[in-house]
Amino acid sequence: MLVRNATVATLDPPRVEAASLRVEGDTIVARGPSLRPGAGEEVLDLDGALVLPGLVNAHTHLYSALARGMPGPAEPSRSFVEILERVWWRLDRALDEESVYVSGLVGAIEAARSGTTLLFDHHASPSFIRGSLATLRRAVEEVGLRSVLCYETTDRNGLDGRDAGIAENLDFLGSGPTSLTLGMVGAHASFTLSEESLEHLSAAVRESGSSLHIHAAEDAADVEDSRRRCGTGVVERLARHGLLFPRTLLVHGVHLSEPDLRDAQAAGAWLVHCPRSNMNNGVGYAPTQAFRRAALGTDGLDEDMLAEARAAFLKMRDAGRRDALAAAFGMLVGGHRLAGSFCGLPFGTLDAGAPADLVVLDYRPPTPLTAENVAGHLLFGLDRSHVRSTMVAGRFILRDRRIAMVDEASVVARARLTAEPLWSRMQRP
Ligand SMILES: [Zn+2]
Repeated sequence: MLVRNATVATLDPPRVEAASLRVEGDTIVARGPSLRPGAGEEVLDLDGALVLPGLVNAHTHLYSALARGMPGPAEPSRSFVEILERVWWRLDRALDEESVYVSGLVGAIEAARSGTTLLFDHHASPSFIRGSLATLRRAVEEVGLRSVLCYETTDRNGLDGRDAGIAENLDFLGSGPTSLTLGMVGAHASFTLSEESLEHLSAAVRESGSSLHIHAAEDAADVEDSRRRCGTGVVERLARHGLLFPRTLLVHGVHLSEPDLRDAQAAGAWLVHCPRSNMNNGVGYAPTQAFRRAALGTDGLDEDMLAEARAAFLKMRDAGRRDALAAAFGMLVGGHRLAGSFCGLPFGTLDAGAPADLVVLDYRPPTPLTAENVAGHLLFGLDRSHVRSTMVAGRFILRDRRIAMVDEASVVARARLTAEPLWSRMQRP
């Protein structure tokens, strides 16, 4: 296919140009100002519409896709741990195979409509652990998205639950990658894992040659718990168990100290900043000035990376950072680098040889759009209402605002039927 007459904006480094892209299979094979269609080649003329690389969500929970509008807890939560106990741990316990599958479909459709083409998911469904990652993969691949999946290992459902979580990660990793999906090892957070459980996770990471995806110091309670258990903060605790190395994902990091952040990033770990979730849970300001290897995550609020980037920018401005525009833009770009380090593909470049993961946006900039100000257009001008089409691995999964590979109306109808009993199961003691 020849995608012609596009305004192609790539972000790393920033570059804006009128260009055409030739897509063969799952790859961009040529990019240039004047590519001519070959014999029999499909031509898509974009009439100057904006093309961006597909966006990457570095931390989400697809299982929360059916949480929208659900009844809140009987009493307001007074702390972060109470929010988990009264809302999210009730939701994840209520999930069964059908609701995991439907949540995956709904979340993946939302991602496609937001121009998000790859997501790192952190899954929990304690009543349906075994086979849950394969169920999620089926849903996400049916919509056509890329993902990196893991199961949130935790002690909070007993040792059987913990062991089943580790086994699910290893079984899924053992089933091998597909062209769209990879696995990694997941863990909930330091404060729900004993020393012994961290040793088991360390063995799982070594055995599988994978890395860990974990919430780290989201709330001060996580750091206090780590000090009580072993006299150190969360980063040092993970390091002692051999869990800190390239491609470890540390999510939130709100209460990590600057030395902790330096050590973690020197070991090659990535920080995932989730500003909207941090605000929603009232856990505090993340020390983003010390985030160097960083990407953005939505933490399951939705799959909208343009909204997350804008929130990151505004939150940093609110905290007095003068370099907030470059910093928020850098974290959006960080998602492409993170994805590249997992998949070994040059995400985000849209050059010849890059994966054909892109977004077409109905955006007619009312002011000049250049390499120098593309960050300003992204953070002040663009939102998901501009997303017209989304391509993943050379296939349109959203085309002219229609979800291409599943019947969206029947997914939505099925989701509504699934959500009500799910919410009722949450109310059980
Ligand atoms: Zn999370």
